[in-house]
Amino acid sequence: MVKETGYYDILGVSPTASPAELKKAYRKLALKYHPDKNPDEGDKFKQISQAYEVLSDEKKRQLYDRGGEQALKEGGGGFSGSSPMDVFDMFFGGGGGGGGGGRGSRERKGKNLVHEIDVPLTSMYNGAKRNLALQKSVICKACDGRGGKEGAVKQCDTCNGRGVQVHIQQIGPGMVQQMQSRCRACNATGETIREKDKCKTCNGKKVTQERKILEVHIDKGMKDGQRIAFHGEGDQNPGLEPGDVIIVLEEKEHPIFKRDGNNLVMKMEIELVESLCGFKKTITTLDDRQLVIEAVPGEVIKPGDRRVVMGEGMPTHRNPFEKGRLIILFDVNFPKAGFLKGDAAKELEKILPDRPAAPDVQDEAEEVLLEEFDPNKHRQSARRGANDEDDQDGQPRVACQTQ
Ligand SMILES: [Zn+2]
Ligand SMILES: [Zn+2]
Repeated sequence: MVKETGYYDILGVSPTASPAELKKAYRKLALKYHPDKNPDEGDKFKQISQAYEVLSDEKKRQLYDRGGEQALKEGGGGFSGSSPMDVFDMFFGGGGGGGGGGRGSRERKGKNLVHEIDVPLTSMYNGAKRNLALQKSVICKACDGRGGKEGAVKQCDTCNGRGVQVHIQQIGPGMVQQMQSRCRACNATGETIREKDKCKTCNGKKVTQERKILEVHIDKGMKDGQRIAFHGEGDQNPGLEPGDVIIVLEEKEHPIFKRDGNNLVMKMEIELVESLCGFKKTITTLDDRQLVIEAVPGEVIKPGDRRVVMGEGMPTHRNPFEKGRLIILFDVNFPKAGFLKGDAAKELEKILPDRPAAPDVQDEAEEVLLEEFDPNKHRQSARRGANDEDDQDGQPRVACQTQ
């Protein structure tokens, strides 16, 4: 039993969600509501980050489950004060290879660009190469990232080079409020260049836009949510180490095979005759090989039975010759009513195992009709009975449909 579900609701998961489910939910929402993509939803991004920060920490989650947000505050297990962006960077492997992502290094490093790509299960099985075109800022080659001729860049007079303007407002006797806003004169860069001195190529922006093709190698056995980082391929900005481009793989569902870790699971429908008298069937694997499976007569495969083929599951990442299992989940099609003609039922009964002994029927026992069950019909008649009065004003259907 949990006390509050707020954080779970924000991530759209149930309070019993596993760490993997939490991760997946956070990943989807964080990418969707990232301020770069959805600048008007800043609050949502913050909420998602807070919820994930608490729920991904086992201790904090326990505390929250027991006593809600109040317990977190009292238990000193509240937010570490990390910004939503820190949580995001941590999750998506921000900070790059070195540095460990401390605050100091973040300032000298540009933002990471995170892209999600859809990958069919077949590609994760066989491996694949995907070209990804992206538009990125690169240092202007014409001016070497200065924005103009040497010496043309001046400190902004309006903000004294700080990039922000500070306004002081009196809000009561002896009380002032300080407010900061981006400097409009220099567009918060702290610098100005006279129009005629601006670099013609980049128009004083110091960077130009370039189209770059990244080759993404999807290795055999890679998983949903796996990240592939391209170090230093993010936007270039003068004075900043470029951030990384991070590709997140999103596994697409396959019509036949479902992935469960390193195992593959598939459903197979067989006929009653096959379930009782055996069968031979083929399965086409994700690398287009044909497997033949066989059941011997009398093996009897029941609806819901499972069988396993070892070594025909997903390849293991970095060890692709090691494969998981293929699990086949059977369902059995029963023949249609009336398929037994003439004496066939009697003949069949001779072969089937004995039926149980006839029941002991008491004299006062009632013989009742065994009808076909129709869930809609039964629900409707129950409603009708309860709403007899509504029937008269001619609107009973509305009440039914809201069910
Ligand atoms: Zn330039
Ligand atoms: Zn300025």
